[in-house]
Amino acid sequence: MKTGNYQYLIVGAGLFGSIFAHEAARKGHRCLVIDKRDHIGGNLYTYQEDGITVHQYGAHIFHTDSKEIWAYMHRFADFIPFTNQVLANYQDQFYNLPFNMNTFYQLWGYEHRQRHKR
Ligand SMILES: Cc1cc2nc3c(=O)[nH]c(=O)nc-3n(C[C@H](O)[C@H](O)[C@H](O)COP(=O)(O)OP(=O)(O)OC[C@H]3O[C@@H](n4cnc5c(N)ncnc54)[C@H](O)[C@@H]3O)c2cc1C
Repeated sequence: MKTGNYQYLIVGAGLFGSIFAHEAARKGHRCLVIDKRDHIGGNLYTYQEDGITVHQYGAHIFHTDSKEIWAYMHRFADFIPFTNQVLANYQDQFYNLPFNMNTFYQLWGYEHRQRHKR
């Protein structure tokens, strides 16, 4: 491995190291990125198996309320739309989580609410 003439040695090719290297290189700095793993991406790493995207270290959800960051990240990767809808199974019934008025209705029903109004 040739190690001369680098301004930055970046240990870790995860999200931070990759973005840092990308931005530093854009500004004309020569970077060397090393990683002890045999792939880039750090904990975000995915691979394809039978047409399925497998998250080696666990699924990742990307969320931001910044349009700028959203647009920036889309320059590097496609994202699969995801809506977080959690249901809890209690005594063979499914309930909305986090708790909302619908959960209380599911648990105690309309009659219970009417009874407590009186
Ligand atoms: C299972 C799981 C689920 C997650 N879900 C989410 C989520 O839904 N949303 C979210 O925003 N975040 C999530 N995270 C957190 C997210 O993975 C991290 O915030 C992000 O990956 C951090 O990026 P990083 O570059 O700092 O570190 P990493 O991705 O950990 O990358 C660091 C890299 O450095 C390398 N390295 C470390 N030490 C050395 C060394 N001495 N020599 C050489 N290489 C080295 C490692 O091999 C690794 O590849 C999750 C994390 C895990 C584990």
